[in-house]
Amino acid sequence: MFELEIMNATIVTTNQRFVGSISIKDGKIAVISKSPLRNAEHYINAEGLVLIPGMVDQHVHFMDPGETEREDFIHGSMAAAMGGVTTVIEHTHGFPVRNVQTFDEKMDHLKNRSLVDYGLTAHAFPEDIGNLKPLWDRGVMMFKIFTCTTHGIPTMNNDYLYRAFEEIASFNGTCLVHCEDDAITEGNEMRLRNVMRFDNEIISEWRSEAAEEIAVANVALMARLTGVNTIIAHVSHPLVIDLIKREQVEGANLYAEICPQYLFLDDEVIKEKGPFAKFTPPARSADKSRKLLELTNNGDIQLLSTDHAPSTVEQKMEGTIWDCNFGLPGVETTLPMMLNLVNEGEITLEQVVKLYSEMPARILGIYPQKGSITVGADADLVLLDMKHKWTLKDEDIISKSGWTPYDGIEITGKPLYTLVRGNIVVENGSIVGKPGIGKPVKRNEK
Ligand SMILES: [Zn+2]
Repeated sequence: MFELEIMNATIVTTNQRFVGSISIKDGKIAVISKSPLRNAEHYINAEGLVLIPGMVDQHVHFMDPGETEREDFIHGSMAAAMGGVTTVIEHTHGFPVRNVQTFDEKMDHLKNRSLVDYGLTAHAFPEDIGNLKPLWDRGVMMFKIFTCTTHGIPTMNNDYLYRAFEEIASFNGTCLVHCEDDAITEGNEMRLRNVMRFDNEIISEWRSEAAEEIAVANVALMARLTGVNTIIAHVSHPLVIDLIKREQVEGANLYAEICPQYLFLDDEVIKEKGPFAKFTPPARSADKSRKLLELTNNGDIQLLSTDHAPSTVEQKMEGTIWDCNFGLPGVETTLPMMLNLVNEGEITLEQVVKLYSEMPARILGIYPQKGSITVGADADLVLLDMKHKWTLKDEDIISKSGWTPYDGIEITGKPLYTLVRGNIVVENGSIVGKPGIGKPVKRNEK
């Protein structure tokens, strides 16, 4: 007897699409059958619905512990579940994990605070190189590195960066690098402040394309020289992809990460919305967003994640455009926005599953347990109604931020059910699971 059977769904993976039924036992996919087995305690009739593996969002900030007035794991993970995300990889700049002790404390703190499965990214500070191997051995999923002093995290200069890469490569670890050149962003800031600029357009000039390109070129080269697995975080424009490809061709283990704000927003939105479109690197011109969508489609971009970094409306309004927090909420709106693109014929659902589920799971070493629909995999599953029409609204947002940059956008396609290891956490579009269902993920043994 199985625990649950999802019957007659249109199952979509990265390489096939068929009508079938899935029987679940002990939280895992036990049988995939053409027609229902009808041998379970519970059933979901999924006729007319599409079944995909749960999304693996490898770049979220739930601020917990840390700035929990911005977000916490309970709200963040509920928002994730609503957005069809069943695994999150989290890091918080306000409370960085820098050693095994803080890692253990944070894992302990999160025990009953997540609705979805989770892993943690540690921060590599310049003086912490000796802590990286013990953290990796303890189960950290990645190391976050900054080439610029941002969100209170110090710059890794080339010496530190190179040594950190060599160290992380020595144990085949992975890093997620925020690439903006510190000297260039600092120089831009000084010049803009000297002429008393406080308009919204400072964001694009301060966090310039050149600052990003130069840092990416540098990091990509170092990734090749050291052999470290490196994800270039939140690529904001197409030239960055060219720089990454150049080193990929030379053998670098490099991956490009796209986030929805670079596909759906642009510099006109920054001009208009200021703090509510302030994130870094910023979105560029509409043409460049358009081109990034092409690159997302054709495989030149390998990963999609949200960089969910919420602030409340009040927090976004604090101080000048220079002072207010960077970052946007996104974990609950990313899959819906992508489903809408699928319905508009701009991308295939298979490609969305690849970018937002399979690839992150593979790079993180948690595939096929996560990111796949195969017998033996965790039953992390999402049922979609691809025809459902609805509107994204601030008042429906579960994240503590309480708003979305996509307020008012009409969407076709909605995640209706989310299952985490066979547990139904979202049923018919409403949260039914309790925090604590989510458990830490473990990397595959190599
Ligand atoms: Zn981030």
